[in-house]
Amino acid sequence: MDAKIDTLTLQHFIGGENVGSSGGEKFDVLNPLDDSLYCRAARGTGDDMRSAIAAARSSFESYRETLPKERERWLMRVADIMEERKAEILDCLIDEIGSPIGKAMFEFDKGLSMVRAAAGLCRNVRGETIPSDVPGKFSMSIRAPLGVVGIITPFNVPLIKTTRLVANALALGNTVVHLPSEMAPHVTLLMAEIFSQAGIPAGAYNVVTGMGHEIGDDLTSNSDVDFITFTGSSVIGQHINEICAKSKTPVTLELGGKSPTVILKDADLDKVMPLAARSIFMFGGQLCIGSSRFYVERPLYDEFVKRFAMAASKVGMGDLRDPNTVVAPIISDRQRQRVKSHIEDAVSKGATVEAGGEWDGNRCQPTILTGVNEDMTLCKDETFGPVTSIYPIDSYEEGLEKANDTVYGLSSAIFTNDINKALHFAKNIGAGMCHINGPTVHDEAHIPFGGNGESGVGREGTDADLEAMTELKWVTVQL
Ligand code: NAD
Repeated sequence: MDAKIDTLTLQHFIGGENVGSSGGEKFDVLNPLDDSLYCRAARGTGDDMRSAIAAARSSFESYRETLPKERERWLMRVADIMEERKAEILDCLIDEIGSPIGKAMFEFDKGLSMVRAAAGLCRNVRGETIPSDVPGKFSMSIRAPLGVVGIITPFNVPLIKTTRLVANALALGNTVVHLPSEMAPHVTLLMAEIFSQAGIPAGAYNVVTGMGHEIGDDLTSNSDVDFITFTGSSVIGQHINEICAKSKTPVTLELGGKSPTVILKDADLDKVMPLAARSIFMFGGQLCIGSSRFYVERPLYDEFVKRFAMAASKVGMGDLRDPNTVVAPIISDRQRQRVKSHIEDAVSKGATVEAGGEWDGNRCQPTILTGVNEDMTLCKDETFGPVTSIYPIDSYEEGLEKANDTVYGLSSAIFTNDINKALHFAKNIGAGMCHINGPTVHDEAHIPFGGNGESGVGREGTDADLEAMTELKWVTVQL
């Protein structure tokens, strides 16, 4: 099968077939580097979404009976085909969402390990025996797939999210309806083609492309959907949470962040500097776990600002296919306006630009600000661009307090050789993830990934998805 009818027009993938929108409409997907037309995709309707859900529901009855060894084989094959089609996937990540080659390779490698880790899940769908107080009662729990899983993904890491969430859902015996970002339909449809090529049965994985604000509610409010996993902005996450609360549909929300990095006076700046740059400038700062706040103990503050500004001015902004290029175009005009307005607001209220602040086409230079205070929007709000601020602190305690002064709680980092302070920070930071002497930007297939507060609810990863995408049933036998 071919999810792509021609190079420019994408269709939904429903019940193992490529199908156009029932409304006959399409939408444009622009290459964010220069806003040229990258492709067109079917503009999904409520009817398209219902048809995908019906396909997933009907496929579930047979898919749930597939054997672990079959699902394991299919998923291992998905990873093998990904390797065979690597160049095509990398091109798509570069031209559809503006990934520099380094980020595209990073995402590809993560995606491969997500799929292979998911293959290992197939044999791990276990319950347990439970002691009973009733004489002769044999008691156990059995674990079963939930049914139809609705997956909604953002533009910035479409391959990581697709490989992790779709592969885990399918490994566990669920079927899937996937609404990808309207800015990244192609990479998702490429993966649908690969899942199908690998042998995943028709109807087990369905993709509907379109505008989330037009058809998202048709997915999240449908009573035939048994679980929703959403990754995206906190505002839409809140909306989805409210819909799911009404129908009591379980939901995982992976939302935005304002992740802090605390650097104590005993840290080795030679080791910290390359990691600091990696924490925020990768993919133009369009990473939920990017570090948009640095708190540096005063003895190191001036030196850190000087070296970070120097590093920022050297971050590669060349051809996206050049391995030295790090800075990506900002994905859309709306996001560009957001990044610009955050910088302008801070500067107009007295912040100092230590590096960057200017634009080259759709790319914002890596930007470092000092003198940021709470009156400035970027102090507390997610910017989602290559923009960070540095604040001096007088003690570890002040660093912890300031790091915790946020409604978000996704990733965090601390650099120090003081094990007591490091572990105290890990315990007391109100974030779902904490890295000691490592950058906030880190992910692996089998870890509990996720955040608290405005950063979301629940975790994802093989073990977390095993819990979230299956249910336990208590069974007893009176002997
Ligand atoms: P977004 O919220 O604009 O869109 C995300 C998805 O939601 C898209 O697929 C969109 O089509 C869909 N959507 C829109 N309206 C909907 C509705 N009413 N119902 C259902 N779906 C709807 O986010 P984005 O701009 O694509 O991504 C950036 C955001 O994602 C940032 O806030 C970032 O921090 C967050 N993010 C979080 C994680 C994480 O794991 N925590 C990872 C990546 C990105």
